[in-house]
Amino acid sequence: MKVHYIAGVAYDSNVYLLEDDDPIVVDTGAGMHVDSTLEAIAKIVPLKSIGRVVLTHSHYDHIGGVEAVCKATGAKIYLHEAEAEPLRAGDMSLTVSAMFGKGIGEIDVEPLREGQTLRCGSSELEVVHTPGHSPGSIALLDRNGRAAVVGDTVFCDGGVGRWDLPGGDLGKLRSSLKRLRTLGLKSMYPGHGSYADGDAEHHLGLSAEYIEGAY
Ligand SMILES: [Zn+2]
Repeated sequence: MKVHYIAGVAYDSNVYLLEDDDPIVVDTGAGMHVDSTLEAIAKIVPLKSIGRVVLTHSHYDHIGGVEAVCKATGAKIYLHEAEAEPLRAGDMSLTVSAMFGKGIGEIDVEPLREGQTLRCGSSELEVVHTPGHSPGSIALLDRNGRAAVVGDTVFCDGGVGRWDLPGGDLGKLRSSLKRLRTLGLKSMYPGHGSYADGDAEHHLGLSAEYIEGAY
């Protein structure tokens, strides 16, 4: 499996294309630049080959583009059960979409559970529940490749996700970061900013130092 990084524009989240026989798109940005995202993806794989879009969590800057991506690809949407259920029920409070001055249509999502695996060609991706930034935040872990897409739980150069939004929890964020540090990651792909290729442990260590001092 090859990870392609499509950098987020402005407050869009990054988008990742996990390329293999059965490619997966992770996160979709806020939606304003979704056409250029789809163009970038189409240069790598045929859009119709994408059967799954996995959302690391349901904040608007990650899911605003999901409708357009699914329309272009026909993909199904996957999201951790802690956020899939409220979203299905029409509860938009966890998406903080009001913060972006946007609403979002009804979304049909498949719930993901801790430990569940998704196959992507030759790679197996494991759902690791990492609450704290939001209740249903996940990392998508390639254990053999020692790589993970980590959403907004942790960023490069010592950043961590906000814990003051609805459903956020500093204690849980600390525990999730601790857990990520036990995985022996070499590469990590966060929801914003740059990614770490080879030195993920260094970046995770910086974030841990920061969050232990936070209150
Ligand atoms: Zn977020």
